[in-house]
Amino acid sequence: MLGCEASRLVSTVVSGTPRYRFAPSPTGYFHVGGARTALYNWILALQNDGVFVLRIEDTDESRNQPQWTQGIIDALAWVGINGDDPHFEGPYFQSANAAAHTAAAQKLHESGHAYYCDLTSEQIQERAKAAGKPGYDGYSRDRGLSGGPGRVLRFKVPAGITVVHDEVRGRVEFDNSTIEDFVLLRGNGSPVFIHANVVDDIQMGITNVVRAEEHLPNTPKQQMLWQALGHEPPVWAHVPVLVNEQRKKLSKRRDKVALEQYRAEGVVADAMVNYLMTLGWAPSGDTEIVDFARIVAEFRLASVNHSSAFFDVKKLNAFNGEYLRKMSSDEFVAACEPWLSGSAPSAPGVENSPSATPWPAERFDRSVFARIAPLVQTRVSLLSEVPAMIDFFFLADPAIDAAAFDKAFSAEWARPALRSIREQLVSVVWNVEAIKSVVELIGASLDVKLGKLQAPLRVATTGRSVGPPLFESLEVLGRDETLRRIDVALSRAG
Ligand code: GLU
Repeated sequence: MLGCEASRLVSTVVSGTPRYRFAPSPTGYFHVGGARTALYNWILALQNDGVFVLRIEDTDESRNQPQWTQGIIDALAWVGINGDDPHFEGPYFQSANAAAHTAAAQKLHESGHAYYCDLTSEQIQERAKAAGKPGYDGYSRDRGLSGGPGRVLRFKVPAGITVVHDEVRGRVEFDNSTIEDFVLLRGNGSPVFIHANVVDDIQMGITNVVRAEEHLPNTPKQQMLWQALGHEPPVWAHVPVLVNEQRKKLSKRRDKVALEQYRAEGVVADAMVNYLMTLGWAPSGDTEIVDFARIVAEFRLASVNHSSAFFDVKKLNAFNGEYLRKMSSDEFVAACEPWLSGSAPSAPGVENSPSATPWPAERFDRSVFARIAPLVQTRVSLLSEVPAMIDFFFLADPAIDAAAFDKAFSAEWARPALRSIREQLVSVVWNVEAIKSVVELIGASLDVKLGKLQAPLRVATTGRSVGPPLFESLEVLGRDETLRRIDVALSRAG
């Protein structure tokens, strides 16, 4: 790579329908970076009334597994890239196109753009060592070998400069002398990624390749292939990588990268889409929280930042909290449903597996949840946080946090105060105002602030020191159960 020019390209005007594509390899969970690349392509296809082609690059048999392909399709559908939409085409499978890969390789051989080579990698290394220059030296260029087992097909890289026009990075120059004659077909006849990817793109009429920056070094090679095969190269765009807090590229081993994990934790799709789109790009105006239609209207590749973007999980969660609060109460109740019924999506490393509601299913009461949902809605940023916040409503005897209990009952006044509260609660009208005024009056008589006085009452009735607003919760919990729990706590406190 010689360098990038600062000036940006105006997108090439293509006659006919623009055709974008997303070409993942099904080798694992769906990476959030992949989701962002897919969204870019999808949004551009929608914006330009083009087509989004999904091509599954499944030719690496040792790493690909069918379940990952379904995972990709599900993940795309979740972020709104829906296989039934008229802009969507596919999925195509690269493995089904093997004959075209071979035919294109033959064509390149016949036209003199490629040649066979029988050197072993040891021989190549020896020659490189002797010449003091790493890489393959073009030894077989003019040997006129025919194809056969153990012979790789290599592309004859011409001298000169290759200029890649990239919609994100501008003009990028590569000196061809730094690019060795690269392999198209392995010794067993199978195509390498660079070759299969171009042959498929050509066959599928792709006009715009928007993909991860890590593929930029492949691009001069691929552009040469497009040209050698007699086609105008597509418009390229390489999207900067996502990095973690330490500014290191997000990695499967180190970071939480699977879209499925965020989904299982209860990030909602709209929040995820909006958040992914703010990584390296910003909508106009002073809020980043915007709806999808706005994103489709405003997104431009030319305004995507060149530098890597920090995937900030805290910010994603904050976005999600905003999306949860924007929902109507009914929408929120519906969104929580999978986490309350034990049918939440599962993902590795996420605890809320389908059978993991904290209460036995038969004790859950939807109408109770609908009453407390507004109290919860303003207090969570992930849907998976909801069950633990409300479990005391649906557990016969919620576990008591011993430390919180001891702390709440450490004050002299705590036991007598709770006893008095209990006595009063027996006869009041059971609603928030009355419950609150009982506690206020007793607080005033003991000269204890309301906040402090709530602590023993809260831990007695909910088992914890924090939770949704207490008086509202007790109203829903009901008088009998509230009194019963206070009695249990008073006998525990001794
Ligand atoms: N299968 C490649 C990948 O997953 C596709 C690269 C491309 O988009 O050209 O990285």
